[in-house]
Amino acid sequence: MKLSGGKRMTVEELYAITGSYNAHNIIEKLGIIVTEVSFSVLNELAICDPQQGLIFIRNDLSNNLHEFALDHEIGHIVMHNDIQSPLYMSGNKSKIEKQANDFAIELVAKNHKIPEEQVVKYLNDTFPFLKLNNKKTRCVNNVSENVI
Ligand SMILES: [Zn+2]
Repeated sequence: MKLSGGKRMTVEELYAITGSYNAHNIIEKLGIIVTEVSFSVLNELAICDPQQGLIFIRNDLSNNLHEFALDHEIGHIVMHNDIQSPLYMSGNKSKIEKQANDFAIELVAKNHKIPEEQVVKYLNDTFPFLKLNNKKTRCVNNVSENVI
């Protein structure tokens, strides 16, 4: 599937297309290519090329962190496919990284039918370096001032 440039898809719009909140089902439906790589190749959790629909993810992540990282990168692919440079998943707190985190939090919550607050608490308790918050008060439309 080819996503139109600059489209800011929501989790619910993605569900309408794919029929799933599960990362692996979504990846299959959208034709995203996922490659697992070792820490020696990639020392971030994951990286994606939003325009090409490519995700590279570390092969040493626990199941929960793997799912969150995939969902984060899916968020970039469906929201930020107008950005031409690869996006690293790191402690970068730019607007687009926060948008991808919010997208992933919502996707994990809906996939497991648990509240978003519970997802945030679990991830922050288990993986403190993520430093997530769930304040959906930020502007989600203007990424022109991003600081990639
Ligand atoms: Zn990211």
